[in-house]
Amino acid sequence: MLLENKVALITGASRGIGKSIATLFAKEGARVIIVATNEEKAKQTAEEIGASYRIADVSKKGEVDQLVANILAEYGSIDILVNNAGITRDGLLMKMSEKDYDDVLAVNLKSVYNTCQALTRPFLKARKGKIINISSVIGLMGNAGQTNYAASKAGMMGFSKSLALELGSRGINVNCIAPGFIETDMTNALTEEQKTAIMQKVPLQRLGRAEEIAAAALFLASAHSDYITGQTLTVDGGMVM
Ligand code: NAP
Repeated sequence: MLLENKVALITGASRGIGKSIATLFAKEGARVIIVATNEEKAKQTAEEIGASYRIADVSKKGEVDQLVANILAEYGSIDILVNNAGITRDGLLMKMSEKDYDDVLAVNLKSVYNTCQALTRPFLKARKGKIINISSVIGLMGNAGQTNYAASKAGMMGFSKSLALELGSRGINVNCIAPGFIETDMTNALTEEQKTAIMQKVPLQRLGRAEEIAAAALFLASAHSDYITGQTLTVDGGMVM
C-alpha cells in the first residue's frame, strides 16, 4: 500500500473528485479525514469509505485553525493535505455580482491560504508533508463566464509555486492538479450544448472520471513523487498541451 498509516486531510471530499481521492487514499492505507459543510452527506460518505469527517467552512480562517488543531491533537500529525473544496458561481463579468466573485475566491483560494498557513509549522517541524491543490484547466486557459473561477484556479497555481519555494528545503512537496472536465455534480450543471462544445476540444473525446483525478492525487501524495514540487499536473484528456 502506498499510503500506509499516513494521515490525509481532504477538503470537499463528501462527493465528486474529493470523495474519489478519499476512497483511493483509504484503500491505500491512509487514515483519511474528509471535510465539508453538509454534515449529513459528509457522515454518509465517511461511513461508506471508512474515513472520518469534520464539518468546517474552509473559507473561514477561524474554522480551519480549529479544525487543524483538533486533528493534530487527535491524530498526532497530518502527512497529506489535499485542497479540493471548490465552487462555481458562473456569469459574464458584466453581470457578475461582487458576492459571486468574493464567494468563489474565498472558497477556492482563500481556503488554500487557510489550510496551508495552519499546517506549515507542523509540516516544517516534521520535515515532511505533501500538499496537493486541485486547480483546473480553466486557470490555465480561461473560460467565458468564469472570470471568478479562473482567477481562483490560476491563483492556486501561483500560490503553490511560491509555497514550493518556501518549503522545498525541508522536503515538503507542493503541487497542483489541473483537471479538465470531469463527471461530477459540478459538470452536471452544464447544458448538453456546453458538453458537446467541450468534447470537441478534448483529444480523448470524453469527460474524465473522478477516479482518474484520484490516481494523479495518489501519485503526488506518495513517495513516488518525492522529487516533484511546484508543478501542475494536467489531467484533461489532452485539452491543454
Ligand atoms: P463538487 O462535486 O461540487 O464537490 C465539491 C465539494 O466541496 C463537496 O464535498 C462540498 O461539500 C465541498 N465544499 C464546497 N464548499 C465548501 C466549503 N466552503 N467548505 C468545505 N467544503 C466545501 O465538486 P467537484 O466537481 O468534485 O470538484 C472538486 C474540485 O475539483 C473543485 O475544486 C473544482 O473546482 C475542481 N475541478 C472540478 C472539475 C470538474 O470538471 N468537476 C474540473 C476542474 C477542477 P459541501 O457542499 O457539503 O460543503
